[in-house]
Amino acid sequence: MAGIGFGAVLASVIANESRGSLAAPGGLLTAAGRLAALSGTYLILIMVVLVARLPWLERSVGQDRLVRWHRRVSPWAVGLIIAHVVLITLGYAAAARSSWLAEVWLLIRSYPDILAATVGFGLLLLAGITSYRAIRRRLRYETWWVIHLYLYIGLALAFAHQIVTGASFVDHPLVRALWIAIWISTAGLVLICRVGLPAWRSVRYGLRVVEVRREAPDVVSVICHGRGLDKLAVSGGQFFLWRFLTRDLWWQAHPYSLSALPQPPYLRITVKGLGDASLMLAHLRPGTRIAFEGPYGVFTDHARQSDGVLLIAAGVGITPLRALLEDLPGGSDVVVIVRASTVADLVHRSEITALVRHRNGRLHEAIGSRHKVRFTARNIRHVVPDIAARDVYICGPAGFDDEVVTAARKLGVPDDQIHVESFGF
Ligand SMILES: Cc1cc2nc3c(=O)[nH]c(=O)nc-3n(C[C@H](O)[C@H](O)[C@H](O)COP(=O)(O)OP(=O)(O)OC[C@H]3O[C@@H](n4cnc5c(N)ncnc54)[C@H](O)[C@@H]3O)c2cc1C
Repeated sequence: MAGIGFGAVLASVIANESRGSLAAPGGLLTAAGRLAALSGTYLILIMVVLVARLPWLERSVGQDRLVRWHRRVSPWAVGLIIAHVVLITLGYAAAARSSWLAEVWLLIRSYPDILAATVGFGLLLLAGITSYRAIRRRLRYETWWVIHLYLYIGLALAFAHQIVTGASFVDHPLVRALWIAIWISTAGLVLICRVGLPAWRSVRYGLRVVEVRREAPDVVSVICHGRGLDKLAVSGGQFFLWRFLTRDLWWQAHPYSLSALPQPPYLRITVKGLGDASLMLAHLRPGTRIAFEGPYGVFTDHARQSDGVLLIAAGVGITPLRALLEDLPGGSDVVVIVRASTVADLVHRSEITALVRHRNGRLHEAIGSRHKVRFTARNIRHVVPDIAARDVYICGPAGFDDEVVTAARKLGVPDDQIHVESFGF
């Protein structure tokens, strides 16, 4: 559907050009600028839809893959909009036989809504530049996130100039009406799925903190109480975005996986204090209200292709695997490997041991520093010789995930049997 839409957008621009308009001074540049404008804008709308948290899309594709697609499309979208600005300016300057600088000034001063669009373009550039890996790594997640939100303001600012000045829309009421409908639907999806649905669910379930329990150094479990949680459809391995409504935390939402299946009226997450927000969770008071979004993620039993499973976790990465272990059907052939620096860092150790024993599975604890305990193909094969016939679920920090995925592939595990939940961003 996205591809058909893209084709229709390109066709609407091309159909609008004539031999005469292309042969005129600056005609080719202007036409290329228009093509870049609509294709770039269409890709931005696709990017927005990919991260609009549409429940059916999240369920079938998974948030991490959607975010990956969003990132893959973004350089093209931003590049096309930059090309639009440059080409249109040069094309108009050539037609008016003036300098590009004079044309910029003229466009901003005398064309309707171009000033707002220019501000929108600036915000788009800001969001694009700060999303480059090298720059993003230097920013706090929250700073990056707030800057990213400006993109929505930028899009709103750029909308009017398209309708009022866009050659594909002026004198083409049907195309204009369709374009407006696409924009309104996209904005509606974002408002419903990112604002309305989470707000409604948060009110409906009325989650509050009941207890914060220390599990390991810097790791706490937060136990929450809610209404009607038996109606919350969630699978072991899924995560929610949590917003704890305290003075310091209400404005930021963080992803945490359930560390056990819901036991209505209770839910539990287990969190390692890595940065300012996660460290603050240790000091949550009973009664603190919680707003949440989700459940999200396809790191569940539904993704399983075979009867045997191998669950591999590092550190607090055990949380979704602990819930998944509980959700696996009885009779599953289970092997679990958990990695931690010390025995004290093994989170939910007794629960994991009991769940593995209940399934007649095997549990391996790999204790030691990252440099000592390596997840090479050779080491893994030694412990799980039949790995190729299993579904492998992996959760841990980004470097760990990559190491285990490489080893699993080397040992012949097909890609559709490798499932990763990366806690890294
Ligand atoms: C799908 C998923 C499930 C997770 N489940 C758990 C869990 O069950 N238990 C647990 O302890 N940790 C979990 N994490 C990791 C947890 O979300 C981060 O540790 C936490 O957000 C750190 O926030 P901070 O402000 O304390 O630290 P910061 O210092 O701000 O960040 C530490 C790291 O977390 C990343 N991060 C911060 N905020 C977010 C965010 N909103 N979304 C994605 N990444 C972010 C940062 O980029 C950085 O790499 C999960 C992460 C993901 C993506």
